[in-house]
Amino acid sequence: MSKVIIIGAGGVGGVVTHKCAQLVDVFDEIILASRTESKCQAIAAQLKRPIRTAQVDADNVPELTALLQAEKPDLVINVALPYQDLHIMDACLNAGVDYLDTANYEPPEIAKFEYSWQWAYQEKFQKAGLMALLGSGFDPGVTNVYTAYIKKHYLDEIHELDIIDCNAGDHGKPFATNFNPEINIREITAKGRYWQNGQWVEVDAMSIKDSYDFPAGIGPKDIYLLYHEELESIVKHYPEIKRARFWMTFGQSYLKHLEVLQNIGMTSIEPVMYNGVEVIPLQFLKAVLPDPSSLGPLTKGKTCIGCVAKGLKDGVEKIIYIYNICDHQECYAEVQSQAISYTTGVPAMIGAKMMLEGHWKKPGVWNMEQFDPDPFMADLNRYGLPWEVVELNNTGLAS
Ligand code: NDP
Repeated sequence: MSKVIIIGAGGVGGVVTHKCAQLVDVFDEIILASRTESKCQAIAAQLKRPIRTAQVDADNVPELTALLQAEKPDLVINVALPYQDLHIMDACLNAGVDYLDTANYEPPEIAKFEYSWQWAYQEKFQKAGLMALLGSGFDPGVTNVYTAYIKKHYLDEIHELDIIDCNAGDHGKPFATNFNPEINIREITAKGRYWQNGQWVEVDAMSIKDSYDFPAGIGPKDIYLLYHEELESIVKHYPEIKRARFWMTFGQSYLKHLEVLQNIGMTSIEPVMYNGVEVIPLQFLKAVLPDPSSLGPLTKGKTCIGCVAKGLKDGVEKIIYIYNICDHQECYAEVQSQAISYTTGVPAMIGAKMMLEGHWKKPGVWNMEQFDPDPFMADLNRYGLPWEVVELNNTGLAS
């Protein structure tokens, strides 16, 4: 029996709250807190059991500390934005509460994300006897656990890892992002980067393209190489990996819109003055784009996210593919959300469950692949994200 405070009432916050509320035996008491309390109340109204809501500005460390000291939760599940990570970690340290998030810290003024800032909290969390679990979404999150599972059960050494994220869903809008538009556009307009022979190779955004024939009737789709945060922790924890890459599907219309928006400066995070008011173009763009949580009832089709790993088992080369197929409409029927928020929110709930039940529990700041993957993989099957594992004859990638 435990008490959690979920921070952030967006697309992902909605799913985490639904999923935690389904597990009465684990999540005895739930408080959903966010900047705009009415969004928390709207989510609470969808649930079959009562939860409490609260208003909090997570960037205000004293205010959040006071909330945590008053409520004394066992765990904070941070599904606000990456900008809040360090502030929420500080408040958790002040109040003596464990911490979990789904995306690594990103400073608002620089479009750059890396683990260094959060890894720097290792000693503080260890000394306080508290635990922080980083990146418990799908990618990062499940992809890290898939990698650990492949290493534990299928390959003695992983040499090449390709994480491939396909969203074959269609929401019928000319241009919309599936999670927070500001964070999403910052991520995909950044330089691409992959790991090769002990160093990072940087390439222009979207300049490396391949195609992949996805299972479950999705079929072939164009994929583009991006930098993604789980690559950083995975190559650190598996130094044997010679090459690690991350790929994502994008349709031509999406790419054309993005190109135009970039060319006219609408994706910039440099402030501009408009009528005496300082405006950040990307934040203004977010305000005019569809809210990702509004795409739920509109989106049809499937997602397929997985890891293709090539390496050695008993001296013989093998290629293993582990993936999940998720259906947008089925997610909506269950938790009133599309599959992108669902595939992030379910692993956040499972990560929290791992900590609260003591399967994953040690003081310090940890990434997902640093724990035994088995109980987490079992819960993915149980709570809505079943996975398949297949042995392939080739990676299916041309490059
Ligand atoms: P949304 O923008 O839909 O929701 C963010 C929520 O956080 C909003 O309710 C917002 O409040 C709240 N918030 C923002 N700032 C503060 C603050 N200072 N104090 C309190 N609450 C705040 O985002 P998503 O739900 O799409 O994404 C949530 C997180 O999940 C992000 O960090 C994202 O990067 C991560 N993510 C991870 C994925 C993975 O696979 N690992 C995949 C997809 C997302 P308000 O409504 O008032 O603005």
